[in-house]
Amino acid sequence: MPRYVDVILPLPLRETFTYELEPKCPVLPQVGSRVVVPLGNTKTYTGIVVRLHDEEPAYATKRVLEVPDEPPVVQPAQLQFWRWIADYYLCSLGDVYKAALPGTLKKGSTAERKKPTAAKALPPKDAGDSTNAWRGFPLTDVQQQAMHSIEEQWQKHSVCLLHGVTSSGKTEIYIHLMQKAIEQGQQVLFMLPEIVLTAQLTERLRRVFGDRLGVYHSRHTDRQRVELYRRMLSDKPCDIVVGVRSSIFLPFRKLGLLIIDEEHETSFKQQDPAPRYHARNAALVLAAQHGAKALLGSATPSLESYHNALSGKYGLVTLRTRYAGMLLPDIEVVDAQEMQRKKMMTGIFTPQLLAHIRQALEQRKQVILFQNRRGYAPVMECRECGWTPRCQQCDVSLTVHRSLSRMVCHYCGTVYDIPTACPNCQGHDLSSRGYGTERIEQQLQSILPEARIARMDLDTTRSRQSYEQILHDFEQGNTDILIGTQMVTKGLDFDNVSLVGILSADQMLAQPDFRSYERAFQLMEQVAGRAGRKGARGHVLLQTRDAGNDIVQQVVAHDYEGMYRQQAEERELFRYPPFCRVVFVYLKHRNESVVESLAADMAALMRQVFGQRVLGPDTPPVGRVQLMHIRKLILKVELTASMSAVRQRLLALQAQVLEMKQYRTAQIHYDVDY
Ligand code: ADP
Ligand code: ZN
Ligand code: ZN
Repeated sequence: MPRYVDVILPLPLRETFTYELEPKCPVLPQVGSRVVVPLGNTKTYTGIVVRLHDEEPAYATKRVLEVPDEPPVVQPAQLQFWRWIADYYLCSLGDVYKAALPGTLKKGSTAERKKPTAAKALPPKDAGDSTNAWRGFPLTDVQQQAMHSIEEQWQKHSVCLLHGVTSSGKTEIYIHLMQKAIEQGQQVLFMLPEIVLTAQLTERLRRVFGDRLGVYHSRHTDRQRVELYRRMLSDKPCDIVVGVRSSIFLPFRKLGLLIIDEEHETSFKQQDPAPRYHARNAALVLAAQHGAKALLGSATPSLESYHNALSGKYGLVTLRTRYAGMLLPDIEVVDAQEMQRKKMMTGIFTPQLLAHIRQALEQRKQVILFQNRRGYAPVMECRECGWTPRCQQCDVSLTVHRSLSRMVCHYCGTVYDIPTACPNCQGHDLSSRGYGTERIEQQLQSILPEARIARMDLDTTRSRQSYEQILHDFEQGNTDILIGTQMVTKGLDFDNVSLVGILSADQMLAQPDFRSYERAFQLMEQVAGRAGRKGARGHVLLQTRDAGNDIVQQVVAHDYEGMYRQQAEERELFRYPPFCRVVFVYLKHRNESVVESLAADMAALMRQVFGQRVLGPDTPPVGRVQLMHIRKLILKVELTASMSAVRQRLLALQAQVLEMKQYRTAQIHYDVDY
């Protein structure tokens, strides 16, 4: 019997920790088993065994306290995958472990073990026996052809990109491909961004696949997620998992097909906390590990994926027509600047948009209005002296939330009272500048008192039910106008929406970010796709003060290829993805002069190793968050470079600077493939 185990703990510290096993340990753990171990004098943690051995470490070891379950909860292939994530995204195995297992599995709590583990399949609505329930519509000829092309592409490429306009029936094609895969005894992972995984979609899939389908969603309770995880480990795992980004960490046995819908969605990238992984890219690595075929789908592919398709790395299949001969919506640009000059604006609304809204309501149609900003107003200002309230911990102005009668910092969440007088000049003329969804809702309600208006943004969808309720009400026609942030831009399939209004394209285009134009195009094209799905052609009104902007024109022409060509040209010229990889290096300290010199020192060291590939240091747009001053360096790495070599060098440099006394309390973290 081996004497020692090396264990991953849910901490961003060392790779592994060594513990001693009881000489007569009643249950011998295996690689991938959980063990409960002490750390320090008081703490205990549940860790994952990665190695059993007899090599006595140089330090005194503590003993394993408990082995909660004999069979491993993590498979060797999963551990290999975790290592890849830690290596590539420059984080610790402990960070990956934290993200990979649902909560109670990490606590090893007896409460979790007492629960019967037999996965209670959620009762499918009208599925019964899943094979009989299979009635998934027959594909149209065009869809059938696209499916054959995908299968053909898979002969040559393990990854295929399906570029299909909104409402072309991509989901129908996915369903047919999934059906084929499970008939061959393979497992399928179908990934979607958080906000697209609605009850509407899961019900559609459940009607087809019954209890062969498992859903892995962060809106589910921890117990539901543990149940699914355990079911995947059992000898009756789900054949199909529909899930959000963390579903890549489930224990698959024989993954045969990976589908990633809305593959361009930036929410597949986890920003904070570590592991800052890109679930799309990581999932492709998982698929390769299993030898599975992969399909990426989008109406507006990411520049990365489209580039890979054009360069022959991925297969490419294009669907240009919508289902049932529907036309893409026609898009009308309204010059908000001109309307303002002519003093014809009502708040944020141009007369054209108001006229179209009125017309839609008269025809008993529904309207979606999109504004990529929540809250009442992004800025409050004293008209006397120009003072604006800012967060005390972050370098940002506070967003006014009228419904809360408070101001909120959107970076750290701190809430402040709205001042009654300006603290600078004691003046009382405080006014709101700019428009968030809340203000738009209020304004529109006073213009159209009869209209039934709902708002969908982070503030109105905090509870699990409220999100589904808002969608349900809109679907049932209980709501005339739905105002929302990017939550309204995707995945929704409504029959009766004749008009979509994009209230302001300008703020999206003004983001200081190399992806802002690509993103603005994607958001506008996607929200436009909500108009006129069935029946008549939809209409989109796009308000902007920059009507000549190329992106605006490309949205009007539904010209994805044109957008791609122009953006790719710029990215190549200035060396940004997809022509190289970017690693952002964030340096943080409470004291601004310390972070300033730390950034300079780190930059100098990095330049010794990486030369011209290093940019910065710069202060990011929000230069202080939660009292920590931030500086940023950018490292541009050739696509062919080995990321594990880059990682080793960066971590060595990091150790070197953090050893200096003045930087001991500083933090450095990395963001790869932002
Ligand atoms: P996408 O995923 O490309 O946006 P969907 O698969 O959601 O498109 O299809 C859009 C709408 O058209 C859905 O309501 C869907 O049920 C319908 N539809 C698409 N293809 C078919 C088909 N072959 N038969 C019947 N309805 C279809
Ligand atoms: Zn003032
Ligand atoms: Zn703040």
